[in-house]
Amino acid sequence: MRDLADVRMFVYRWFAERGEPPRPQDVAGEFGVEVPVALEALGALHDGHLIVLDADRRGILMAHPWSAVSLGFVVTDDRVKWWGGCAWDSFAIPALVGRECLVATHCPGCGRALAVDVCPDEHPAVDLVAHFLVPIPRMWDDVVYTCAHQALFCSEEHVGRWLRQNRRPRGAILDMRTLWLLATRWYAGRLTREYRRRTPDEARALFQELGLVGPFWAGA
Ligand SMILES: [Zn+2]
Repeated sequence: MRDLADVRMFVYRWFAERGEPPRPQDVAGEFGVEVPVALEALGALHDGHLIVLDADRRGILMAHPWSAVSLGFVVTDDRVKWWGGCAWDSFAIPALVGRECLVATHCPGCGRALAVDVCPDEHPAVDLVAHFLVPIPRMWDDVVYTCAHQALFCSEEHVGRWLRQNRRPRGAILDMRTLWLLATRWYAGRLTREYRRRTPDEARALFQELGLVGPFWAGA
């Protein structure tokens, strides 16, 4: 089996091109190995937080920014439909694939359908906000829960309504420009072989550049 970076690239490219993850047998076939060897490689990527496997450690659940299951975001262009993992992930996909995409979701505060055209090279000029519930230092404690609570809302007022109804503490609120900058910069290079996870210091530096400071943003 070749390098883990090759396996990661294979998974990510498959997701980018098809809108769904490869199966373990697809990975095995690509690299000319038995399925248990492919599963071992996928397990290593999962343990390194580069993909997320399901509870059986067989199926690929997420390869950020893509998800194999609906987490409330549909991202699509004229060729492919993806499940976006969350607001952060969904806004990253257009820049990664280099095409304008439609990002569609519902405002958790009022249930209204929200649809935004997101370009690879410019933030969308719409007046929505994103709310992230789980602080960055804890985002990998339960990454599916974390993603499911990084949502787009009509307004800050609707964030407040949702927080009160669900008795949750306020997390971080981002305008669309900040969300788009965070998403595109965070995921830049994800489809290259050289990609590696940022250290907590590198993550903090990126957040700081975007004005995202304080305990919520302290590391990743
Ligand atoms: Zn709303």
